Order: sequence, then structure tokens, then C-alpha cells
Amino acid sequence: MATTVQLNSGHKMPLLGLGCWRAVGDEISTAVETALLAGYRHIDTAELYHNEADVGRGIKAAIATGKLTRSDLFVVTKLPSVAMRPERVEPSLRRSLAALGLDSVDLYLVHSPVGALERSELTSPPPEDGRMPLHHGTDLIAVWKEMERMVSLRLAKSIGVSNYNERQLLKTVAIATIPPAVLQVECHVYFQQLKMREVCKKHNIAITAYAPLASPGRKVLYEKRGVKIELPDLLNNPVVRLVAEKHKRTAAQVLLRFLVQQDIIVIPKSTNAGRIKENGDLFSFKLDEVDMGALRLLDQGEAGRSFKFYDSFPGVDEHPEFPFPVKSTA
Ligand code: NAP
Repeated sequence: MATTVQLNSGHKMPLLGLGCWRAVGDEISTAVETALLAGYRHIDTAELYHNEADVGRGIKAAIATGKLTRSDLFVVTKLPSVAMRPERVEPSLRRSLAALGLDSVDLYLVHSPVGALERSELTSPPPEDGRMPLHHGTDLIAVWKEMERMVSLRLAKSIGVSNYNERQLLKTVAIATIPPAVLQVECHVYFQQLKMREVCKKHNIAITAYAPLASPGRKVLYEKRGVKIELPDLLNNPVVRLVAEKHKRTAAQVLLRFLVQQDIIVIPKSTNAGRIKENGDLFSFKLDEVDMGALRLLDQGEAGRSFKFYDSFPGVDEHPEFPFPVKSTA
């Protein structure tokens, strides 16, 4: 099967990328270099991950081996919530590019439709209960118009959005001169995003699945914030394990192959060399219709969503553009 998808911007995007959330310093620069030398060509980071400079070092080290060039790569970063105001888009992207050591990114995503305040804008000390200081005046259309200008300035080759709901995505499409090329959302066997996939197909928008393994390492992060959470254990699901045994593959490979086989881009995060290689070996086997059918049945719809945001950022669901079901109705 093809290893890339054709974007509505005219560019091709690799179906496999390395996720970079929750790793900084040498850990992530080494992981990026390892992934690129193992054949990955797509790297997913964000200003919010505080690792763009480290990711940039990893890219530079891989290019220095002479085995690949910048033009072989697809680098993605994201506009943070504190820059969800039109006048902040260009400075934010320029800061990301400087940190990454690049002239342009292949894809710039609006990270979330929720705008936040900078620390410097707070009129009182930051709340101690982990509440996110919100900027309630977020104007998604004005931000999108600036995102389009980033393409005219050649700072981003393609642009897209993340964590948008259907209403926000369609509102953007309706006014866009350059429509979003990609929607990045949580997507895995328990939360297969069937409705969103239909909407995206209709508008020729590619989907990137974040947390394709349901982000098992996140528990530590929640615990640090004093939040007790039960995370779905996809890797030990009996159906996933049976399919894996049948193909002599790992559960992670089955979970990822299930998505790429449906043209959904995956960005599994790993900083472990063995698991980076394991996750990257997705194109040397194929799931048959029986496997695909069994895995499709694992979908729990909305109940399968595990990134709710209000559990790690209390109060975020009070923002007028909070995209998902709010705590009181969940
Ligand atoms: P994920 O990729 O589903 O899972 C990553 C976790 O699984 C890590 O703890 C990793 O640990 C472990 N892991 C990786 N491969 C494995 C394997 N083969 N077997 C067993 N465990 C394995 O979760 P994620 O990092 O949350 O999501 C992926 C990427 O999506 C992120 O890194 C980020 O780039 C992006 N993302 C975007 C958003 C957004 O709001 N747009 C939100 C979340 C994530 P090791 O490192 O120890 O292998």
C-alpha cells in the first residue's frame, strides 16, 4: 500500500510519523534521529511540548548522516492556545521555526480552538488548582485567515486544525480560501471517529490520529496533577492480541496498521529505539477483512474518548469554543 496520503494542498503526507509529546532534551532529539534513520519521514511536535529545539537538533543530526535531506521530511508543529489571536500567529510560527532550525514547516496546525491567556496577561497570580487561564474572545475565523497568510508567506506548506469539532471544522471550511488540509484528533480502536471521518472525507481533509495507542504513558502526567484516571489498555485487549498472534506481530503494530490501512495518518510516540522500529514496521503486513471487522467492533463511539481535557485542565470546558462534551454532560 502507499505510505503517503495526498493532501488537498497538493502536498503528500507520510502516513507514519513520530509523536513527540512528553519528551524533551536528548531523549527526544535521539528519538527523532533514530526514527528518521529507521525510515520515518514525518515528525509531529508543538510549541506546547517545549521541545521544538530538541526536535530540531534530532532532525539536523539525521540530515548530517547524509542519508536524507530536508526535502524528504514532513515536519508538523502547532499554534499554541496562548497565540489564538490573529496578531500572534506569525510571531508564534516564526518562533517555532527558529527553534526547529527550519525555514518552513510542512504543516502548521491550530492546536486547539480554545484560547488561553499568557502568564504576563494575568491580573492575579495563576490559579493553584490547575485551572487554565482562558481568553474568552477567541475568533476562529480571524485566526484561520492568519493561518492562510502563513502559506502565502511560505512559512507553512499546508495548514490544518486539531481538536476541532464538526461545527468548528465546517465553519472554517465555509470561509476558507485555503481549506484545512488535515484534522488532527484522538483516534484509536476504542474511539474510531466514524462521524468525523465522514465529514473529512466529504471535504477532502486528511485525518491524523493522535494517541493511536490511547497514550498509555499519560498516567504519570495526570498523577502529577493529582488526577486519578483509568486509561484504556488497548495493548492488552484480547481481540487486538488475537489478531497480533495471528499475524506474528505486536499489539501496537496491529493498532497502528488498523488505522493506516484506512488512510488515517498515525503518530505514535516512543523514545525507545526498539519500540520506534516496531511501530515503524507497518507496511510489511496486511490485516484481512475478518481482522478489520473484529477491530471495527471495538469502537465505543463517544464513550471511547479518553482525552477530555477538563480532567487535566479544570475549567477549560467553560471556554465558548470548548470543542467536546463538557464535564456536566459527559
Ligand atoms: P500514543 O502514541 O498513543 O502512546 C505513547 C505511549 O505509548 C508512550 O508512553 C510510549 O512509551 C508507549 N508506546 C509507544 N510504542 C509502544 C509499543 N510499541 N508498545 C508499548 N508501548 C508503546 O500517545 P501520545 O504520545 O499521547 O500520542 C501520539 C502523539 O500525538 C503525541 O506524541 C503528539 O505528537 C500527538 N498528540 C497531539 C495531541 C493534540 O492535542 N493535537 C494530543 C495528544 C497527542 P515509550 O516512549 O516508552 O515507548
